[in-house]
Amino acid sequence: MPLSQPDSTPRPGRSPGSVDYRFARRQVLGRVRSGAIARSEVCDAQRELMRVAEHCSQKATTPCPVCAENRLRIVRYVFGPRLPAGGRVVTSRSELRKLASGRSGLRCYVVEVCLGCRWNHLIEVVPLASPDRSIAPAGSPGGSGRSAASGKR
Ligand SMILES: [Zn+2]
Repeated sequence: MPLSQPDSTPRPGRSPGSVDYRFARRQVLGRVRSGAIARSEVCDAQRELMRVAEHCSQKATTPCPVCAENRLRIVRYVFGPRLPAGGRVVTSRSELRKLASGRSGLRCYVVEVCLGCRWNHLIEVVPLASPDRSIAPAGSPGGSGRSAASGKR
């Protein structure tokens, strides 16, 4: 897997079974801003990830949180049975739906990558169990605004 998992505790995401890494991302960014970790430690996207981000990604709606350039991209890797060990890069929702139909155990890793400074971070991991559930791009406008606090135990 070309992606490293953030080391802080992940949180439940928006959809059932998904895992949200935005809190970990905020923590990392805070530590970069305070100088606790060097920018070079987090702006370290590998060559392959940069290539994918350049050619097989979606433009993010927000600028890079590190360098503030508008070159942030959203990359989606799908992992699961009968897929390459390094994951399959998916560029469109229809491709996601096609992959998910009739299969189980697939997970989509959403990663943001900056083409300017090589910042990269895992945003969320979403199970592709239900083909009819739409997967909103990370950082896209028009989110429902629902809080994740509805799932009481
Ligand atoms: Zn950047």
